[in-house]
Amino acid sequence: MQITQLIVGSMAVCCYIVACPKTKKAAVIDPGGDEEKVLAEITRQGYLLDYIITTHGHPDHVCGNRRLQEATGAKIIMHEADARFFGTREVNNYFSMLGLEPSPPADIEVKEGDKITIGEEVLQVLHTPGHTPGGICLYCPPDLFTGDTLFVGGVGRTDFPGGSHQELLNSINDKLLTLPAETVVWPGHGYGGSRSTIGQEKNSNMFL
Ligand SMILES: [Zn+2]
Ligand SMILES: [Zn+2]
Repeated sequence: MQITQLIVGSMAVCCYIVACPKTKKAAVIDPGGDEEKVLAEITRQGYLLDYIITTHGHPDHVCGNRRLQEATGAKIIMHEADARFFGTREVNNYFSMLGLEPSPPADIEVKEGDKITIGEEVLQVLHTPGHTPGGICLYCPPDLFTGDTLFVGGVGRTDFPGGSHQELLNSINDKLLTLPAETVVWPGHGYGGSRSTIGQEKNSNMFL
């Protein structure tokens, strides 16, 4: 799988363009701003965008969904629990304070174990609640996209509505730290660094 990491938007989200080198089919994970930069990169590489994948519904990760969908017709994928949670008025009002554009409704809702096929590549959905109820990580060995669940040397905050610190730790321990040590961690923000491995986080992440 070809991976392009772009730092986008006012919250410095790590956005990823992931693509099948053979078919040029691609997906964007978390286009949290700088949509024109993301679109230009897709064009430059000659990719065909099939999906916009949301690791979780926070506005800093979904605010580019509308523009990208309008420009490419790609389908928006979100976990069913976040599609529900971020569809409620109270939650929408709370996050509208940030002034970032909310996502259009998901076209495809996914759950634990689902597979997203991009040309000849496959991303497996790991449901990792805690930062939000429907947070997901995306796994295509050896690569793992962790959203705001796991950072380099850190973990996602859990003081937003729908957060649970215990659930977050359970998700990381049960679903992520059980993956091979050489698994490459691609986080949703580059706070402690822009990439890591599961082995490194197991050994040195003070929050685990
Ligand atoms: Zn978040
Ligand atoms: Zn974030």
